[in-house]
Amino acid sequence: MLIPARMSEAEEQRWVGVMLDKLAAQESKRLLGDAELAERAEQLSEQYFDSRARPTSVRWVTNQNTRWGSCTPAEGSIRLSHRLQGMPEYVVDYVLLHELAHLLVPGHGAGFWQLLEAYPRTERARGFLEGVVAADRLPHLPAARDE
Ligand SMILES: [Zn+2]
Repeated sequence: MLIPARMSEAEEQRWVGVMLDKLAAQESKRLLGDAELAERAEQLSEQYFDSRARPTSVRWVTNQNTRWGSCTPAEGSIRLSHRLQGMPEYVVDYVLLHELAHLLVPGHGAGFWQLLEAYPRTERARGFLEGVVAADRLPHLPAARDE
């Protein structure tokens, strides 16, 4: 963080506080709404699938706790679990791409994974989500930073 010169310690602390508040506000704004989610899906489809995947609706749902995403190819609708909100962007992108790919290829055969190979962070995102699932199964320990 770049701190302007000639600040007293009190001023400096106040300034750091203001900056942290600003960062926190930006962070929470970065949560995508349904409209941005649909926009993101369009961008991803264009970038990785030559815009061949064209969902009719993309939205967050809160009733999906065992799956990160789902789609109904016949309707062209995609739903993402709200549990993904706040996860790194590349993870949300991966789940979106995964569901977009299902609009083109049903099931998880070789053809499906071939489509996802175009996305450079597929393995990393899958690892991240597996880690989240594994952590959920662990007995709840107090977070280290609480102490
Ligand atoms: Zn799938």
